[in-house]
Amino acid sequence: MIPSNWYNIIPDLPSPPPPPLHPATMQPIGPDDLAPLFPMELIAQEVSTERFIPIPQEVLDVYRMWRPTPLYRAHRLEKSLGTPARIYYKYEGVSPAGSHKPNTAVPQAYYNAKAGVRKLTTETGAGQWGSSLAFACAQFGLECEVWMVRASYDQKPYRRSLMRVYGATVHASPSPVTGAGTKILAEDPGSTGSLGIAISEAVEVAAAAEDTRYALGSVLNHVLMHQTVIGEEALKQLPEMPDLVIGCTGGGSNFAGLAFPFLRESSKTKLRAVEPEACPSFTRGRYAYDYGDTAGFTPLMKMHTLGHDFVPDPIHAGGLRYHGMSPLLSHMYELGMFEAVARSQRECFEAGVHFARTEGIVPAPEPTHALAETIAEALRCKETGEEKVILTALCGHAHFDLAAYDRYLSGEMQDFALPQERIDQALDGLPG
Ligand SMILES: *Cc1c(COP(=O)(O)O)cnc(C)c1O
Repeated sequence: MIPSNWYNIIPDLPSPPPPPLHPATMQPIGPDDLAPLFPMELIAQEVSTERFIPIPQEVLDVYRMWRPTPLYRAHRLEKSLGTPARIYYKYEGVSPAGSHKPNTAVPQAYYNAKAGVRKLTTETGAGQWGSSLAFACAQFGLECEVWMVRASYDQKPYRRSLMRVYGATVHASPSPVTGAGTKILAEDPGSTGSLGIAISEAVEVAAAAEDTRYALGSVLNHVLMHQTVIGEEALKQLPEMPDLVIGCTGGGSNFAGLAFPFLRESSKTKLRAVEPEACPSFTRGRYAYDYGDTAGFTPLMKMHTLGHDFVPDPIHAGGLRYHGMSPLLSHMYELGMFEAVARSQRECFEAGVHFARTEGIVPAPEPTHALAETIAEALRCKETGEEKVILTALCGHAHFDLAAYDRYLSGEMQDFALPQERIDQALDGLPG
């Protein structure tokens, strides 16, 4: 039932995505440029033109702890909406960390351990990625050091605890232990942090040590590819082809992971990405070369970006607070291969509560974006009488995010309308 291959969509695209550029030479980077950060097997996957890549036995053995994940029909949600639409959801919250992130954390830890690496560094927003990597490192005997965005470090103390239980060291970012963090703290001692800043810190530490590498939980081609186990399973589990696949997008990995196999197998299936109004990379960002981090250590990637200096408001969907977007998905968006919409924080939590009261699972703040869009689509179908088949990604549960639900239920939660000046200002900082 667990697929034996990951699916690489790149050879099936009409054109490949533009290459990452070296920030000094502005030339496409080669494998050697990435070697200080990633092991060769992952670099090879990043640029692979093979359609299918076999999942190693050691990775399958760990996947088997929670995969295949369940696919459900949302009968009770449908009934509550009175919709003729048929709604299915693929639930990734059954993993040890409670989200889809271990699908890539496990192979990344495996390939690093195989290459003789001793320690992995990374950033985390909501703590979902940090706890997934900490779990994966524990499986393969690696050390793990995590920079956690300050806003989440304060809002989500139990994610921090979970990382420590799995054996990781956790810093609030910006931190005084790196040059990048020290510089930001000097300018803004109260900085709530951002994924871009935390990436700078983790990359700085990995690049400086011979036995240390860096792991990224989203955005990169190999991460999206590892996540296709979700869609490959769903293809086999679904009794009918979906008309529409809906997923939330932070860096794009859970959406791509569920959707890509359907693009390959079904000509009728449409895709829709949902992002927060507070961090709208697809719908209000620019398609341009930009850094993946705030300090400008990473290669330049062509992507939908709000600018590497952009610090989003501290919405509770910490996993969706990234200034950029997967370059692969950005390229496909430019090719018109899917749609994107943005939703506000409160309508998303409203959808999360509605889902919990009907289907029972309390969704993480990130997938409430996909659920808000799913519910809106199901209500449109009610108007038109259309029996649309909708598949959505329920990519994690909210057991560590209940404080956010408390804020919503008590009426304290706000929406953050993002003024155009703030986007324009951040985009002014794009590299020339
Ligand atoms: C990290 C995370 C996201 C955002 O990342 P993507 O790469 O866009 O999937 C969304 N939902 C959850 C539960 C996450 O942990």
